[in-house]
Amino acid sequence: MTQRPHVVIVGAGFGGLSAATALARAPVDITVIDRQNHHCFQPLLYQVATAALSPAEIAWPIRAILRHQRNATVLMAEVTGIDTANRRVETTAAPIPYDHLVVATGATHSYFGHDEWAEFAPGLKRIEDATRIRRSILLGFERAELAKDDAERTRQLTFVIIGAGATGVEMAGAIAEIARYTIAKDFRRIDPRTARIILIEAGPRVLPALSNDLSDYARASLEKMGVDVRTDTRVTGCDRGGVDLANGRIDAGTIIWAAGVVASPAARWLNAEHDRAGRVLVNDDLSVSGHADVFVIGDAASVKTADGKPVPGVAPAAKQMGAYVGKLIAARLSGRALPPFRYRHAGDLATIGRRAAVVSFGRLHLKGFFGWLFWGVVHIYFLIGLRRRFVVAINWLWNYLTFQRGARLITDAPRERR
Ligand SMILES: Cc1cc2nc3c(=O)[nH]c(=O)nc-3n(C[C@H](O)[C@H](O)[C@H](O)COP(=O)(O)OP(=O)(O)OC[C@H]3O[C@@H](n4cnc5c(N)ncnc54)[C@H](O)[C@@H]3O)c2cc1C
Repeated sequence: MTQRPHVVIVGAGFGGLSAATALARAPVDITVIDRQNHHCFQPLLYQVATAALSPAEIAWPIRAILRHQRNATVLMAEVTGIDTANRRVETTAAPIPYDHLVVATGATHSYFGHDEWAEFAPGLKRIEDATRIRRSILLGFERAELAKDDAERTRQLTFVIIGAGATGVEMAGAIAEIARYTIAKDFRRIDPRTARIILIEAGPRVLPALSNDLSDYARASLEKMGVDVRTDTRVTGCDRGGVDLANGRIDAGTIIWAAGVVASPAARWLNAEHDRAGRVLVNDDLSVSGHADVFVIGDAASVKTADGKPVPGVAPAAKQMGAYVGKLIAARLSGRALPPFRYRHAGDLATIGRRAAVVSFGRLHLKGFFGWLFWGVVHIYFLIGLRRRFVVAINWLWNYLTFQRGARLITDAPRERR
């Protein structure tokens, strides 16, 4: 028997999984490598960080997702490099040879050259980040209840979110809801409703990717919920006690980073040209210059739309690229060619809180309750598995009716110093 071509896919995020699925019927053997054993539905990470959902409701074992795809093997290992001369992927387990390689390793937080801030201002990317942020938020209220003086109480009840893109806006709205409703009556020495939630944005408006009217609506909704929105405000430092701004300081117990992203080291591994955010500049078939059988997709790739705009780092873009590359490899194996990759932008959406969300889908602009309903339906639709869709829908309905959040657990808390 002749050996079938070996396709190695690095990363089982939206892009990698979509590439694997597109190759389900192709005469290839696929190896999917990921350093985690689960695929994470990142758009709902903030719901884990704010105790509305549990980790298992938004993450799925990669093995289980690909269980029925007989030509796919899953390996849990960290990729450390790519040897293009010998066509193999270096991993923490063993080198893996490839005939075709798809790199879909995504992006991570960028602290704009201040990596030392990461310790005090965690970003949200993985399940571990979400549970760490959840712990920090919930501990803030617990520590405020124990505080011996007003200054410390106020500091513990101050939550700063840096960056007012979708994640920052969603986090700020959700923390405001926790303080104003969920735990409003659970404490005896403090009033959680006095918590300060401050959303800081260096640019002139929140949700800059959306139109002015939706952005204004989001800001007004946040302010109505008691969030202090500060645009045109630059952070100059983060430390254990708070945040330094170009125009002052905020003492805060919890700081959350939602400001910038940088691509995974794919460009370094491939010695490829990249943009300022580290994304590999790929050809119009998503292959890497000089390596026709190596593709970079999703958040790790720098791709332009037909009218020259950058393709945004969103899940639908990663999925479209994964599906395209899967089809392209299958087509090439059967001697066919495909036209260049074309991104189709579906739309933008972000939720701000109960009954408040913004949706921009072509000419469809929704806000308020209908936007919120639309947001919920879309997210449930994209979850994997009927059981999870059902569980998440019931959880949201329950949270909506009772103002509660079912996953208010502080786990792995550091021992308090006495
Ligand atoms: C908090 C948050 C909220 C978001 N909200 C939305 C939203 O509402 N709507 C939307 O469309 N998009 C949203 N996004 C963006 C969206 O999640 C990304 O665009 C999408 O996940 C990119 O897919 P990807 O396949 O390129 O990378 P990812 O989905 O990030 O997957 C990368 C995979 O590679 C693996 N990996 C990385 N490095 C290595 C390595 N060295 N070795 C082995 N494996 C590795 C990772 O474990 C991961 O599984 C959000 C992102 C975040 C972080």
